Amino acid sequence: MPEARLIRVRGIVQGVGFRPFIYRLARKHSISGRVRNSGSGVIIEAEGEHADLDSFQSAISSQAPPLAVITELTVEPAQQNRFSSFLIEKSEAEESVDTLISPDIGICDDCLNELFDPADRRHRYPFINCTNCGPRYSIIRKLPYDRPLTSMAPFTMCPECQREYDDPADRRFHAQPNACPACGPSLQFTDTEGEPLPGDPLLSAIAALREGRIVAVKGLGGFHLACDAANEEALLELRRRKGRVGKPFAVMAFDLERARLFAEITEEDAVLMLSPRRPIVLVPKRSASTLSNAVAPGQSSYGVMLPYTPLHYLLLEGFECALVMTSGNFCEEPIAIDNAEALSRLRSLADYFLMHDRDIVLRADDTVMRRDACLPRHARRSRGYAPQPVFVPAELRQVLAVGPELKNTICFTRGDRAFISQHIGDLQNLEAFGFFREIIDHLRSVFELEPEIVAHDLHPDYLSTGWALEESGLPTVGIQHHRAHVASCMADAGSLEPVIGIALDGTGFGDDGAIWGGEIFIGGPCDLERAAHLAYVPLPGGDAAAREPWRCAVAHLSSAFHEIPSLPFLESIDASALATIKKMIETDSNTHLTSSAGRLFDAVAAIVGVRNVISYEAQAAMELEALADSRETGRYPFEIDTTAEPWQIRPEPLIVAVVRDVRKGVGAAIISARFHNTLVAIMSEACILLKKKSGIGRVALSGGVFQNKLLFEKLVSELEKKDFEVLTHRQVPANDGGVSLGQAVIAALGD
Ligand code: ZN
Ligand code: ZN
Ligand code: FE
Repeated sequence: MPEARLIRVRGIVQGVGFRPFIYRLARKHSISGRVRNSGSGVIIEAEGEHADLDSFQSAISSQAPPLAVITELTVEPAQQNRFSSFLIEKSEAEESVDTLISPDIGICDDCLNELFDPADRRHRYPFINCTNCGPRYSIIRKLPYDRPLTSMAPFTMCPECQREYDDPADRRFHAQPNACPACGPSLQFTDTEGEPLPGDPLLSAIAALREGRIVAVKGLGGFHLACDAANEEALLELRRRKGRVGKPFAVMAFDLERARLFAEITEEDAVLMLSPRRPIVLVPKRSASTLSNAVAPGQSSYGVMLPYTPLHYLLLEGFECALVMTSGNFCEEPIAIDNAEALSRLRSLADYFLMHDRDIVLRADDTVMRRDACLPRHARRSRGYAPQPVFVPAELRQVLAVGPELKNTICFTRGDRAFISQHIGDLQNLEAFGFFREIIDHLRSVFELEPEIVAHDLHPDYLSTGWALEESGLPTVGIQHHRAHVASCMADAGSLEPVIGIALDGTGFGDDGAIWGGEIFIGGPCDLERAAHLAYVPLPGGDAAAREPWRCAVAHLSSAFHEIPSLPFLESIDASALATIKKMIETDSNTHLTSSAGRLFDAVAAIVGVRNVISYEAQAAMELEALADSRETGRYPFEIDTTAEPWQIRPEPLIVAVVRDVRKGVGAAIISARFHNTLVAIMSEACILLKKKSGIGRVALSGGVFQNKLLFEKLVSELEKKDFEVLTHRQVPANDGGVSLGQAVIAALGD
């Protein structure tokens, strides 16, 4: 006895080959009926035998196309229409504003096989794609997602491509960027004036890279600067031109086999690297690495990615070793996307340009991830992930949150969704601030958003704060930085119940105007109360102290000791500079009180001799972590003063013990491990005390310091051992890249 069902599917189900997938599935399971797009997803009318319908229905979820994300599937009985076959129905107003836009996706296996198949008509065509892969978010000018509204508009499909595009049974049915050598984009290899050079563009680029030259390569979300990762001279030249002293470069290898020549890649990391989103994954260096030391000096890991466009595959195939693939920009500027823009901005950085004529509408840097405590975590969430929303277990009013200053992202909320932008960058940079405005306008118009209120950081000097207050034209609300961190973690982990919220961070403007960053809160997202914090130390010279860890060390030493003890790291400090800093602390001039955990890391790093001055954010802390001997179990004494309100976590006993170890000649590896162990002990002890007081047994961990794998993993395991439920970031970074989500959620739920 045949029956009829109405199946509604919500999520990312449009523009990802979902209807042809349903069409093929229906035929396989002998289902008749029809499928169409609607304002809120895909609607399927299905008729068939009971058992066939059941297997059809379960296959929808279990076999969905790679780009689809099903957030809801509902089924109800329906009237029988006695369809004779299964149809894909053309619908008016096909893609509504409720549609979720797919992120850009790395090349799929089918396309990859065609790329290297000499018999295929797209053999070695660098822009091969299908409904399961290729550019999406980065080529969309407007919704609906239709070719004329993308940067594929200037390319008219040849008859063969058009036939694929029109055939529901074809893998390229409605694949908007569909193209072939006859009708699609093409490559160009130019000099720094944009003059095309003779010869095959791809082979010329490979030859230049082999010669140690730097080539700007146009990718999916922007330009990379590429050079041979084994060529020390080329790397040092790239560092010199970029003005980038020590910050690690990401590398790309043709496949896992070649990547394993220089990096230790576990099976789990391999899965992450091979995923269609193709993030950069931080993996341990191999002891006998084939790469130049200048790729990631002072680090124990490399950022490694596999090719994600056909062009990358063709480039890397011809290259035995890995290529450094770093964002095409000067320090902290947004990545270049436009050909003319790239030529003017990257002229002094690159020797040659490998470009194409498919425009990038919206830039997106590479996403950076690492597996910590068994899960993949974001250090930077961008290409392959944005603009996929985080689903929040609450009804959110429409809010725009403009994020902090560094690692800025913005976030829009609507319904149960929080749309977090790709990585925007450091807003102190003028171009990044331009991109910030651009992306607010773009997301607002593409998703037809009408925020009621703008949420911003409390820091009055942040450009994002200034934009909110002076330019947004909307009511505003200031959200304290670390409360935003904690709320971000709660929303990210899908729980808004009250927590003990730990924010260990570099810098954030506090309620009292001090620089916070070692904070423990208690409560729900909208009423997070400051329960405990690292005791304040006077930080001489504010921002400058963050660039000069030795100043943090002097600050902590003067809090812990009467007279600053003589230590090896002070020998290289200019005597008058030291005297000035001491004077500033004594007289309390140009100092800022801080409870920052990041600055405590800096202080310890300087005291043990890691470094006195940094060239990129968190460098000293990262190097301190990298050298820790993880087998060491010892720790230092600490004190939590629960008589004060909020409770004070006193760092002095810890600093005194570190100094004692340095003077005894204990190695930096051991001191670093003991320091990490002490922080774990402090935080878990504070949680135990707060649980006793409040009855709350759920802990949320957020803030940039949790990028520290050693600290994060030890603390998670310690808290779980003590029976805490631990909420951690899974979809957005723990660092400032996740702050806009927390701002948005607090503002959307508050009154
Ligand atoms: Zn494909
Ligand atoms: Zn074609
Ligand atoms: Fe922060």
